[in-house]
Amino acid sequence: MNIKIPLNDLSRQPAALGREIGDAVRDVMASGWYILGPQVEAFEAEFAGFCGVAHGVGVGNGTDALELALRALEIGPGDQVAAVANAGGYGTAAIRAVGAEPLYIDVQEDSMTMDSRALAAAIEPRTRAVIVTHLYGRMADMTALLASAGGVPVIEDCAQAHGARICGRIAGAWGVLGCFSFYPTKNLGAVGDGGAVVTGDAGLAARVRSLRQYGWSSKYRSHSPGGRNSRLDEMQAAVLRVKLRYLEEGNARRRKIACLYNRWLSGAGWRMPAVGDDYVAHLYVLRGARRDGLRDALRRASIGSDVHYPVPDHLQESARGRAWAAPNLPVTERCCSEVLTLPCFPGLHDDEVRMVAEAVCAFSAPTSGV
Ligand SMILES: *Cc1c(COP(=O)(O)O)cnc(C)c1O
Repeated sequence: MNIKIPLNDLSRQPAALGREIGDAVRDVMASGWYILGPQVEAFEAEFAGFCGVAHGVGVGNGTDALELALRALEIGPGDQVAAVANAGGYGTAAIRAVGAEPLYIDVQEDSMTMDSRALAAAIEPRTRAVIVTHLYGRMADMTALLASAGGVPVIEDCAQAHGARICGRIAGAWGVLGCFSFYPTKNLGAVGDGGAVVTGDAGLAARVRSLRQYGWSSKYRSHSPGGRNSRLDEMQAAVLRVKLRYLEEGNARRRKIACLYNRWLSGAGWRMPAVGDDYVAHLYVLRGARRDGLRDALRRASIGSDVHYPVPDHLQESARGRAWAAPNLPVTERCCSEVLTLPCFPGLHDDEVRMVAEAVCAFSAPTSGV
């Protein structure tokens, strides 16, 4: 038996959703208006409302969302931005794009998100912002991190955490700015690139709105230096409006899959994610010393898996020789060598989850089993 189980398959979606998306796309085609229009405006309002904040600004992608958030806070050369090094390098790319330097903070053992005590110990006078990444769909400990940041503005990277919440307060509504990606595989995904910045601050929203379109104050009037072209288009916005209505349902299914894994893998010797409202199971990530062996075993069984992420930011080739690239991050480095992502997406069937769990148990210990 060799049934292929994919890490993700975006073509598996409810038939009703597919029909609604088709209608939405046809309407935009017929409207003759394709970039920054009524669909984008409506989506911005609906998505900000979903997050429980006053303002939403659609942008080109999640990395631009982070960069424009930093620019809106007027962060640039000579400034330092605290961030983690185990989150795929998106924060680092944005920090370097504005000419600032990353200050890497180690992560907590359990959540693999930023350690608030390490942040408090590392923060310097020239640390002008903190980017907190809600990794794998798990919200970081925002209460403790906001306290550690003191008055330094905190930007949330919510690209993996659409709809995650702590005490009812949604990811993106905690920091001064919340940044989202709608890359197709995200919990809320477009059919191309897309992103958004949400904020409760009208002035910052206006600045991001200007920066995403050349720094204009009005047509052909350049106001803000550092302006870019980073716009959300009408097609993506129309698709996102439809998919936003399915987000909570998708997140619930992801959590259900994570619960099944946790039940069927208990006793197999891997560290597993706790499932609650603060986790939207963007990625189901196991941790263990035999990660590479398990990955090979899954590959032989035609089961998709991946490592998010194999090389921390400070050890990347692009960071070589930089003074900021030699931090002491023991937990981060251990995580990178131990994490393994299993298939977890709303269209995955229970029997597939079981087959993945059986393959993990077969590799892990002769005594454990589903
Ligand atoms: C995907 C992702 C981004 C970047 O989003 P893009 O739309 O691909 O630019 C940023 N941060 C995190 C944590 C992500 O997972």
